[in-house]
Amino acid sequence: MTPAAVVHYHEISLKRGNRPLFLRQLQHNLLRAVGDLGPVELSQLSGRIVLDLARHRAPADLLERLARVSGVANFALAIRTGVSREMLRAAVEQAIGGRAFGSFRITARRAFKTFPLTSVELNRELGAHVLAQRPGCRVSLEHPELNVRVEVLPDEAFVYCDPQPGAGGLPVGTGGTVVALLSGGIDSPVAAWRLMKRGCRVVFVHFHSAPYLPDLSRGKARELVARLTQWQYYSRLFIVPFGEIQREVVLAVPPPARVVVYRRLMVRIAEGVARQVGALALVTGESLGQVASQTLHNLTRIDEVASMPILRPLIGMDKLEITEQARALGTFEVSIEPDADCCTLFTPRHPATRIAAEEVAAVEARLDLIGLVTQGVEAAQREEFEFPAGAGPYPPRGAGHRSVTGPLAE
Ligand code: ATP
Ligand code: MG
Repeated sequence: MTPAAVVHYHEISLKRGNRPLFLRQLQHNLLRAVGDLGPVELSQLSGRIVLDLARHRAPADLLERLARVSGVANFALAIRTGVSREMLRAAVEQAIGGRAFGSFRITARRAFKTFPLTSVELNRELGAHVLAQRPGCRVSLEHPELNVRVEVLPDEAFVYCDPQPGAGGLPVGTGGTVVALLSGGIDSPVAAWRLMKRGCRVVFVHFHSAPYLPDLSRGKARELVARLTQWQYYSRLFIVPFGEIQREVVLAVPPPARVVVYRRLMVRIAEGVARQVGALALVTGESLGQVASQTLHNLTRIDEVASMPILRPLIGMDKLEITEQARALGTFEVSIEPDADCCTLFTPRHPATRIAAEEVAAVEARLDLIGLVTQGVEAAQREEFEFPAGAGPYPPRGAGHRSVTGPLAE
């Protein structure tokens, strides 16, 4: 009997053609997520992935990491054993050892039908064995205090009691690359995470207004990216100096139109970064009606300048719901640290909620748009983040990783 982690994924979410890619990526991601904690051997066994932990010193350390691997439906630390009835009984005995419970059930599943007992017979036999060990206990199929799960495969079996829900979603790396516009606020980190959960690699872009504002937002953006990198193992953050660009806007654009003009410039610059890193879409934390720049009218003005889709995963969410997700994610406490949001700089108290296309076009005509956008893209400073620390870029360079050339390379 040896320790193992059993990882289940949602079979139904696997489209036929994508299945090999999905599984390969999930296997790579699992290994990356836990590989630094100790020796792990991974195998793919009919419908589940098993991490053999026979040589691992502290298998329980893996659990927190496994909870952050997207594409996982649920996972558990299990006892790996043989398929004889004696071995199964011994494994069940070990699994319940040291646990206090008044009622229990056995939930057996056979991944192959040639095993001599049906699942129901196996439940009965192993249940009787537990009752013999713990005479005071009773079986409860509906509300057991302890549910002992037994998975019987052709050559081996797994026994465990505490499956934990996985992150769900799809493995990072199966969905293409997107560029997230990351402010220091509550919403955009949650938006970026939602795309990671749908399998995307996220590259971050942050606009800051130093030296016009105290240099706090950059530190927050870095800390947010560091936390989010736990979900995708390697991140790039492009920091774009935006203060000078905003100053140009202030000189040319009347106050009510400024917020929309800032956003349109951010989108154009972020697209420049996206093209350099091979991203196919942008992501923002906008939610409908939350602030003046997020009315349908103004979102339309923002979309008009985009040549790639702007994904807004939070568009229909309330602030309360977004805040709950940010707390669960561990980004909330960073987001609420005081900073000086670049968009509060030179921003009027009452921005227009409904600005016409001709009106924005007219005020933008006073700007050297191409010059400002080029300036933003070229001045972007690139930083890299790894998880676990010291593990290097992911996927490893050379293994399908596009290296960046041009001004963004450094
Ligand atoms: P957040 O909580 O994400 O800051 P918000 O509710 O403050 O969002 P806005 O200020 O209107 O809303 O920003 C809308 C979106 O624009 C943000 O979610 C983010 O994607 C992007 N954005 C705003 N400011 C910046 C910035 N300084 N750098 C990068 N992206 C930004
Ligand atoms: Mg904000």
